[in-house]
Amino acid sequence: MPGASRHHWGTDFDIFDAGAIACGHRVELVPEEFAAHGPCGQLQAWLEEHLNGFGFYRPYREDLGGVAPEPWHISFAPSASGILEQFPETLWQEQLKVSAIEGYECLAPRLDELLDRYLFRVTPPPRN
Ligand SMILES: [Zn+2]
Repeated sequence: MPGASRHHWGTDFDIFDAGAIACGHRVELVPEEFAAHGPCGQLQAWLEEHLNGFGFYRPYREDLGGVAPEPWHISFAPSASGILEQFPETLWQEQLKVSAIEGYECLAPRLDELLDRYLFRVTPPPRN
């Protein structure tokens, strides 16, 4: 949802190894592409070893009942952690209400539940 996607914060992005993707293959960002023998397997191994050293981590590392595991999704912890901790839930809900988002009447009764499940239920950043 607008404003509740970590991508919208500018702290998170999806990454893949473009050089390892076969010509004509359309990247889908699925777990198979990041498996050991998948086209992004070497990137996955490199990220496992070095990601945290650059301040990044994986908020969707494991299935916590919210967003499914996404090994391609990385987050810059020093910036993202503060945004998550201080996420303006009331302001966000007010802005959704006054926006012209289609289907708002279906979302409105579930906003607290959706935030808990998809925004706050994430793997915490490592303690370095
Ligand atoms: Zn992502």
